[in-house]
Amino acid sequence: MRIDLHAHSNVSDGTETPADVMASASRAGLDVVALTDHDSTAGWAEAAAAAATCGVALVPGMEVSCRTEEGISVHLLSYLHDPTHPGLLEEITKAKDSRLTRAERMVTILAEDYPLTWDDVIHHVAPGATLGRPHIADALVAAGVVEDRSEAFASILTSRSRYFIPHYAPDPATAVELVRAAGGVPVFAHPVASARGRIVGERTYREMIDAGLAGLEIDHRDNPEEGRDFLRKLAARHGLLITGSSDYHGTGKPNLLGENLTAPAMLERIEELGTGTAVVRP
Ligand code: AMP
Ligand code: FE
Ligand code: FE
Ligand code: ZN
Repeated sequence: MRIDLHAHSNVSDGTETPADVMASASRAGLDVVALTDHDSTAGWAEAAAAAATCGVALVPGMEVSCRTEEGISVHLLSYLHDPTHPGLLEEITKAKDSRLTRAERMVTILAEDYPLTWDDVIHHVAPGATLGRPHIADALVAAGVVEDRSEAFASILTSRSRYFIPHYAPDPATAVELVRAAGGVPVFAHPVASARGRIVGERTYREMIDAGLAGLEIDHRDNPEEGRDFLRKLAARHGLLITGSSDYHGTGKPNLLGENLTAPAMLERIEELGTGTAVVRP
């Protein structure tokens, strides 16, 4: 069984439609894939419809953007939650709306130094999609300012850049509680990805675990090896499940479907815990 539990479509910052992600999963030889767009479940129906024709099972999921009091970005994967749960829906809607104004403000100050307009950015965003820095990166690529998204994130768009503006995001422990309340299974995404920005300390782990954190995404290309050891010990100590996944974004990132995998026993645990919706089997 080849199981990859982290993939994005153009419902957020991936470059393929949800149906195309399912087709790509089939081509990558996956049996199971989770669609985990940022702050949105808008791709679930299309991906579920494609599951049968592609012969790949779909785990409906989402990646919730969070931020700690100290301003550290945390991504929380949610699997099998009820997409209509009002509390969770309210938080992701606030984040999505704030992402729009934040992107407009970033483009305003970027436009002082680079050939970039709001229309250039919108051109790269599917209707209703969750807006992020990757869409601004796409406009910078189109303008010839950078070669690809990675180059944009290494310079102009990093969280340490003077153009960076944060968006609204719930506290990680609050998000864990809401995912649980919605019947979902909360898994901390790429927890030790230090190249992306600051990573959380012991207190945030404790708060998230106390709030009902179910698992840790350990095998992810952005987690350095020494951090993975720490995560394995933490998982063992607290009985957390562990996952491995690609964080596929189509051509938006080098990450390839199936480059990391999750054990079948872990998916079983996720299915036992998740009560908000079900895995869609072909
Ligand atoms: P935002 O959500 O607007 O803060 O932007 C963060 C998103 O950018 C994350 O979801 C990543 O998928 C994406 N990202 C971060 N670093 C890179 C990179 N080096 N290349 C491409 N995409 C990236
Ligand atoms: Fe992303
Ligand atoms: Fe993430
Ligand atoms: Zn992701």
